[in-house]
Amino acid sequence: MAPVGRGTGGHLGLPPVRPDLAALTGYHSEQVDVEVRLNTNESPLPPPPGWYEALLSGIARIEFNRYPDREATELRRGLADSHGVPPEQVFCANGSNEVLQSLLLAYGGPGRAVALFEPTYTLHRHIARITGTEVVAGRRSDAFELDLGEVRRVVGAGDPVITFLCSPNNPTGRADPLADIEAVVAMAPGLVVVDEAYGQFAPSSALEILRGRGPGAERTAAVRTFSKTWSMAGTRLGYLVADPEVVRACEMVTLPYHLDAAKQLAGRLALRFVDEMEDRVAMVREERGRMAATLAALPVETWPSDANFILFRPLRKEARDVWTDLLGASVLVRDCSKWPGLTGCLRVTVGLPSENDRFLAALSESLQ
Ligand SMILES: *Cc1c(COP(=O)(O)O)cnc(C)c1O
Repeated sequence: MAPVGRGTGGHLGLPPVRPDLAALTGYHSEQVDVEVRLNTNESPLPPPPGWYEALLSGIARIEFNRYPDREATELRRGLADSHGVPPEQVFCANGSNEVLQSLLLAYGGPGRAVALFEPTYTLHRHIARITGTEVVAGRRSDAFELDLGEVRRVVGAGDPVITFLCSPNNPTGRADPLADIEAVVAMAPGLVVVDEAYGQFAPSSALEILRGRGPGAERTAAVRTFSKTWSMAGTRLGYLVADPEVVRACEMVTLPYHLDAAKQLAGRLALRFVDEMEDRVAMVREERGRMAATLAALPVETWPSDANFILFRPLRKEARDVWTDLLGASVLVRDCSKWPGLTGCLRVTVGLPSENDRFLAALSESLQ
């Protein structure tokens, strides 16, 4: 067979992209210039001033002519200590999205399947497809909870190498009870990856299974990020806590020195500011309660959230029209209304009190 893209006539030209990629649409969130940006679940606050100071003086001492520590030894040790596991159980990457990609490169690929339960984080499906991995999808219940009967059906039929959960689930908001996660681990054949991007807001974590070395601990992985609670989305740093064998598998597919020295430093320093981070989580929780109470009085359907965002569905007006009204008021939220299972839904990130006020006022106005 002739190599792809080099026609028999030997014409020069760009090769076509892989046919399985051509069908993919990109993943992106609108980036428009607005005053109140509540569409990507970032922290509304910058990292603490002390972190900036320590980072600046630390960067001045980095030997930028040298490759960084390939193993990210200190960062991994710091994260491991913070979670009560050995460093061999921690893998770091450029955002938790790169952790997910590493898992899929290591365990997925053609002829292999992963399972997920929608509506959920759309990048699980997207990265699976990019790595040529088949996706078997089940549904969450009408209340967006895990339906263990559905999980059993999907993992039984699909024989997935990885079953993805997302807890708290983006974009619906609820955390899965630990008992449900344990039940999924008990019935899923391969690795169960729990995306805990919002884990700091949640009452429980799959880390408890890992720490306790409970049944199935070697097949359980928790994925976390510095992008949300830690106010460091600009740093692109995320990590995995899992069995050492899973960590080694991820390292096999990682490019050498993929974590630059400044990023490793930024992450290490962040671990000194846990108290400030906990204050932020408390602020967000309080604001989330206030927003939920206000939304409850408006003509919208809402779902309870264990994260830093709230999903809602306007009842008497098209979601896209509400989204446009909000944009007109310089408030940007996420339009999920075309996502599977989320017809008519919008998602708002919990911001600063003043930003949330702007959102609530603009929403009331739009729904008048
Ligand atoms: C925001 C988010 C991430 C974050 O990805 P990073 O690459 O770490 O910024 C991962 N998973 C979910 C469910 C998210 O919502």
